[in-house]
Amino acid sequence: MTKSNSLVAMDLATSLHPSTDARALEKTGPLIMDRGEGIYVYDTDGKQYIEGLAGLWSVAVGFSEKRLAEAAMKQMEKLPFYHIFFSKSHEPSIRLSDKLIEMADDPRLSRVFYTNSGSEANDTVIKLVWYMNNALGRPKKKKFLARQRAYHGITIGAGSLTALPANHKDFDLPVIPVIHLTCPYYYRLAKDGETEAEFTHRLLVEVEDTILREGPETIAAFIGEPVMGGGGVFPPPQGYWRGIEALCRKYDILLVADEVITGFGRLGTAFAFKKYGFSPDIVTVSKQITSSYMPLGAVLFGEALYNVVADNSHKIGTFGHGFTASAHPVVTAVALENLKIIEECDLIGNAARLEAPFQNGLRQLAELPFVGDVRGLGLLAALELVADKRSKCPFSEAGRVGALAMQIAHEQGLILRAIGDTLALCPPLIVTEDQVREIIERMRRILTLTI
Ligand code: PLP
Repeated sequence: MTKSNSLVAMDLATSLHPSTDARALEKTGPLIMDRGEGIYVYDTDGKQYIEGLAGLWSVAVGFSEKRLAEAAMKQMEKLPFYHIFFSKSHEPSIRLSDKLIEMADDPRLSRVFYTNSGSEANDTVIKLVWYMNNALGRPKKKKFLARQRAYHGITIGAGSLTALPANHKDFDLPVIPVIHLTCPYYYRLAKDGETEAEFTHRLLVEVEDTILREGPETIAAFIGEPVMGGGGVFPPPQGYWRGIEALCRKYDILLVADEVITGFGRLGTAFAFKKYGFSPDIVTVSKQITSSYMPLGAVLFGEALYNVVADNSHKIGTFGHGFTASAHPVVTAVALENLKIIEECDLIGNAARLEAPFQNGLRQLAELPFVGDVRGLGLLAALELVADKRSKCPFSEAGRVGALAMQIAHEQGLILRAIGDTLALCPPLIVTEDQVREIIERMRRILTLTI
């Protein structure tokens, strides 16, 4: 038995994989990755792949950044673990908070709370917001507004904010009070002849009607991914975020930007809220904060929320929330070095510069039969495949063509993600213009072989 065969057998005998059809996997076995180099990963047979999804939308600096290994080792040798509970702290956590606030560069964002993942960051938001409203004597103000097709994570709280059937059905979610509004999915949900501005207006009317129907005194927060990712990559229509921000201010509702995918340069700006020109009250981040070399999430928020929490915790003697590894010193040291690399190598600028070749190149693939929509911005994009371009009619067996395309993509040495029949791409921010061209070439080949 070869090394990879025996690993496949061991994996199948012992593992349960996230978001995977377990019985289907038993037939094919997993694709086992062995090592990484730049934007490439190699499987145990030595086959090279372009990592077109940056792992899980998350590896900004590529798969072989030695400086992150060195930062981890240095911190491991100095202080491998300490926590920041019970009035303790440590230097990497302090310096990282300072860096995050500097990068956010918004007077509304001046405080940081650390978690181990994006899901925990969004769970923390729910608890912070509820805690705040309890402290302010408004116990009814607890509901969240989110959107259909949102992905905010999979824990009980964040999973409730998520609105994808696979994450709800059979898990008895949602369990927190959340209202899922229309997804800003212009290609499918705009009416015939409706402009982007008209579509935005309709969505904003729905939000305001919902707030008035439920009562503003019951709505705590609106949470959204500035560009929705895991649900199918949906950039919002023109004017959407400014409109949502205005409604949140009008009705005293906190605006939460889930920047777990978009944070740290994905759209060619440090954060997506900069690109759309709005100012959230709370921002959650994870993934590219460490390029996913280490697990880390964070919640950024401002003095108003901080002061309510601080006053209340003083009354009851504690702010009773946090994780053993919140602000882990090795993880925060790696995050700091990762953010330093992003700045020194101008990876945010690289995403901005490569937006045109990447997005325009992919849009040229819309000439192929069955490519119904190509959407995205920065280094984040999706192609939606349809049975009939004119009617936008989807394929009869949803997801079959997407799964086939993903399989062919693997054969062609490109990792992408099929979300039903939508193919998502999100390469590492270190990608070069030549590599962007190569990704587009491979996509053309994959699409031609698929349909
Ligand atoms: N929020 C968004 C927008 C995400 O895309 C994800 C993960 O993909 C999460 C939250 C959850 O992050 P994690 O998987 O680290 O819990």
